[in-house]
Parts: sequence; C-alpha cells; structure tokens
Amino acid sequence: MSINKGALAAQKILEEFGIENPNDFSVEDLIHARDIILQEKRISNADGRIVFGKEKTIISINSEIKYTGRKRFTMAHELGHFELHHNKNTHLEDNSLTLDYFKNGGQEYEANQFATELLMPKPAFINFTHGKVFSPELLRSISEHFQTSITSATFRYMEIGQHPIFLFHCRDKKVIYWKNSINYYRKVKEITKLEPPSDSVAMEFFIDGTIYRKEESAQEILKSTWFETGEYDSDDEYFEYTIVTKNYNTVLSVVWEQ
Ligand SMILES: [Zn+2]
Repeated sequence: MSINKGALAAQKILEEFGIENPNDFSVEDLIHARDIILQEKRISNADGRIVFGKEKTIISINSEIKYTGRKRFTMAHELGHFELHHNKNTHLEDNSLTLDYFKNGGQEYEANQFATELLMPKPAFINFTHGKVFSPELLRSISEHFQTSITSATFRYMEIGQHPIFLFHCRDKKVIYWKNSINYYRKVKEITKLEPPSDSVAMEFFIDGTIYRKEESAQEILKSTWFETGEYDSDDEYFEYTIVTKNYNTVLSVVWEQ
C-alpha cells in the first residue's frame, strides 16, 4: 500500500514543529500556530466543522463530545482539512460523524488519515502494540496511550496491527460498510445496507440496547454470524466486540479469531 496524502501531510507538520513524541503535544497548539480560531459549541449531528474565511479560519468542535480522545481526534481531523483542502473549499461542514469517514476515498478519508498519522504515527504504533495479544483491552490501552478515540485506535489497528481483524460499521440498524486487515479474507454475507445478522452482538444493541461491560467485551459468536460458510467449513468460534455511540445510534463491530 502506498503512503497516502493525509499521512504525508501529517508527517510534514510533525517535522515542521519538531514533534517526536506522539503523545506529548497538544493539537490545540498546532491549530493556534496556524492562526486558526478554535471554538467549542453545540453542533447537531456532527463532531466538528471548519470555515475558511478570507482573514481567519474557524474550527468548531461539538461541545457535546464527552471523551477527550474523541475531541482530540476531531480537532486533528479538522486541522487535516486545513492542511490538505485549504484551497478547495470555503466551508466544510462535517455533517456526519468524523468516525464514519474511514471508508476509502475523498476529502473526509484524507482528513481521517491525517489525524490517524498525526496522533498515532506508524513507528510509535507498531512499537506500542508489538508482541501484545489482541483484545478489546488492548484497543482501549492504545486509545489511552495515544490519547485518541477508541474507534480511531481500532481502525489504525485494522490497518497495521499484528492480529487480523474485521470491522463492520453499522448505523440505525443497517450495515454501512465493512473493512478488514490486509490478507485476512473471509467472505462476508450479503449484508451491506441491510440489517446486521440476527445473531450478531451489533444486532443485540439495536434490538434492546445491550452494551456489554468491559470484562465481557469479547463476546463469543460463530464464523457463520458474519461470514459465508461452505458445506465443508467448520463453524468456528469467533469473537465480536462492539463499540457503541449511543447518541448517533452507531455500532462498530470488531470481529476476530483467537
Ligand atoms: Zn471532515
């Protein structure tokens, strides 16, 4: 996989400001260094937005975001728009969840790639995760260590982590898209734009709001829950961990084999 535009722009700004330790700088400072006005306010149905003015650019972050990691990721995402898309737009309303934007392609994906590389540079990420067994707890510790959202930590792990995983992104009881680690091929059932599988943990949330406690994060499922299984396949034990954002009615399902 070639290096993407977003990641390159992030490496550039890290270099420009001489930042060596990824968990030891403030995104606010970078935003201010670019002479951008940063404000927090209530925004409906979006994590952040950027307005490119003639004189000044304004970045707004939704004050309703509870988690600092998620706020930090959103700031980095908006800064990514400034670094990458300054000349193409005047106004950019992220009218969806920043974290929905990990699907390939377009400005939103580039801004997410920027934020990902800025907050979790590849060498530091590999160094931190190397030799650690995959678990929901590991994802939580990555998000704490790099001070970023659990969702962005999970997508980063899917891209460059050691243990292969599948991610299914669902919203309003529909599967929006799925992605998988490189070289981890499983035939996914025909579910895109449809309901998640009836025996999935994602569906449990949509049916009755079930969210498992930390200690029960890794729920046992079967291979056939999310994947096609042939006549001669054994229906192996898989695991599913759901990352729920109640306000937006979204579930990110992490699926893996031990
Ligand atoms: Zn955006």
